[in-house]
Amino acid sequence: MGRSEELMERAVKYIPGGVNSPVRAYGSVGMTPRFIQGATGPYIFDVDGTKYIDYICSWGPMILGHNNQRVLKKVVRACEDGLSFGAATEAEVEMAEFICENIPHVEMVRMVNSGTEAVMSAIRVARGFTGRNKIIKFSGCYHGHSDCLLVDAGSGLMTAGIPGSAGVPEGCTADTLTATYNDLKSVEKLFEANPGKIAAVIVEPVAANMGVVLPGEHFLSGLRDICTGEGALLIFDEVITGFRLAFGGAAEYFGVRPDLVTYGKIIGGGMPVGAYGGRREIMELVAPLGPVYQAGTLSGNPVAMAAGLEQLKILKETPDYYTELEEKGRKLYGAMEELIRRYNVPCTMNYIGSLGSVFFTEHRVTNYAEAKMADTEAFAKYFRFMLERHIHLAPSQFEAMFLSEAHGNGQIEETLEAFEDYLKTQA
Ligand SMILES: *Cc1c(COP(=O)(O)O)cnc(C)c1O
Repeated sequence: MGRSEELMERAVKYIPGGVNSPVRAYGSVGMTPRFIQGATGPYIFDVDGTKYIDYICSWGPMILGHNNQRVLKKVVRACEDGLSFGAATEAEVEMAEFICENIPHVEMVRMVNSGTEAVMSAIRVARGFTGRNKIIKFSGCYHGHSDCLLVDAGSGLMTAGIPGSAGVPEGCTADTLTATYNDLKSVEKLFEANPGKIAAVIVEPVAANMGVVLPGEHFLSGLRDICTGEGALLIFDEVITGFRLAFGGAAEYFGVRPDLVTYGKIIGGGMPVGAYGGRREIMELVAPLGPVYQAGTLSGNPVAMAAGLEQLKILKETPDYYTELEEKGRKLYGAMEELIRRYNVPCTMNYIGSLGSVFFTEHRVTNYAEAKMADTEAFAKYFRFMLERHIHLAPSQFEAMFLSEAHGNGQIEETLEAFEDYLKTQA
């Protein structure tokens, strides 16, 4: 029995399922999770000292790779000044200025502590602004675990096979309408059936919580047009795509301007941070300026701001990183796609920039229903094979692979070799 197995035995006694977030459990791949001791660059080390090439990257935040020294130094310096004051700090002003000066569709921003909080608050302000209650989300999109958004959500809910969640009263989800990703007609129909009642459409501009699913050519601009025509707000949940697809996220990448945007993951540089922002006239409704209440004891925490801001500054200073991430994505995911074809294994590769996933189905995957056709047992076998070869993937068919700036040709080649060897066992 390894140290991970020992720790899991202790963990399950006092932590539900042994983990503090369901996506960390290895249930769907029939294993015990690796307990992690540390990480550096593209590598992560478990408590038995085994080194893996990491494609989880903390589910996105570690876009510069693990343990970036510049970020670390800023964090240590901030710690020396004090961990939390519950009062206004210069770091928060710098963060807000930096975001608003560099992202054209964000005119005002509010910091929170997680992606869940960011989305929950953005929905509240959208409702406050429009005076309408209903929202449209897409099946398979995950927007955190707040009550009203746990409807046909992807991520851990898909893996665990939980249809929504127990403990969410019907009243909480009654105003949540669900449309089909990449299907504008399904959105139009909901607007027709609920005239003047829909406050906002929220979407992951690239879906990355049902595996990676790309928006079709006119999907995002079509949503923009529908929302504008109906007087509803368009919310881009950029908790994964923000500062990843481009510095300005998917909005910049696809040239579509949302009214509100939510951030998390990368914006904290590894610390628990989220943010929501957008058009000034909407954000001016947030308390204490306006009547939409939203608060947080640790929001804008100085240590978290230090980590997040330094990571964002590095990304902004080095626009080449985004071209490099695109190239690495093509190198890794493009080659995986090629290998799948060569060995004629029933898999489909979806990827964009540094995000990618292998779906264990030969059919194309453009929405939730198609994603769910994937063979999760085949995925589990693949996952175990890759872990054995020291490739650390998300333990679920329905999560993305994340590349970081620290991943180089060596790691990509090693990953491709392991992937080819896996395909050989299937061909
Ligand atoms: C991770 C994620 C969230 C939730 O963020 P947390 O920090 O886990 O609360 C929301 N939306 C999207 C698109 C995400 O990927």
